Amino acid sequence: GKEFNAAEGQSITRHQIDSASSQFFPLCMSGIQSHLRKNHHLKHGARRQYGLFLKAIGLSLDEAMAFFREEFTQKIDSDKFEKQYGYNIRHMYGKEGKRVEYTAFSCASIILNNPPSHDDCHGCPFKHSTEDGLKSILKSNKIKSEYIDEMIALSKINQFDKACSLHWEVSRGREKGSLPSLITHPNQYYDLARDAAG
Ligand code: SF4
Repeated sequence: GKEFNAAEGQSITRHQIDSASSQFFPLCMSGIQSHLRKNHHLKHGARRQYGLFLKAIGLSLDEAMAFFREEFTQKIDSDKFEKQYGYNIRHMYGKEGKRVEYTAFSCASIILNNPPSHDDCHGCPFKHSTEDGLKSILKSNKIKSEYIDEMIALSKINQFDKACSLHWEVSRGREKGSLPSLITHPNQYYDLARDAAG
């Protein structure tokens, strides 16, 4: 599959993340962002799913460290942050260990691997949320009820790509079926949303 890396010149600062999240992030990522702001913590699965996504939209290592430090140190001191999480974050940027350039997870990987347990916030809401949970996420996302029903129906028959593509379309007032190809990667969702906004 296609790998999504920050395009030349594409970058984002930590101060732009909330606004980007509400405008351009797919539900799997805006959900983690809300969880982080509310709980000032992310467990391992979410740190990885979200950290690699943010890296691919152009958040630099320094910005990522500052972003997570500012949240996490509302609950733990900065020494503990550096020890427990600093390595992890640098590792995602290929600065530790084997120095591998890790790429962001595709939808298939998010849907098939490492399913979230009840107190995790990673995964794909179309796949991993209960029907009521998904309904309330979509409602608070201001999706019209006819589309909510349709996304739930698609999720029930495992057509998560179609549900997510419909979410992309109706969230920006596009016609249903207007996306030329289905969403198969969170960073594809983001890139297309940014492009659509001009
Ligand atoms: Fe995220 Fe992909 Fe699920 Fe959409 S289908 S919410 S981009 S994992």
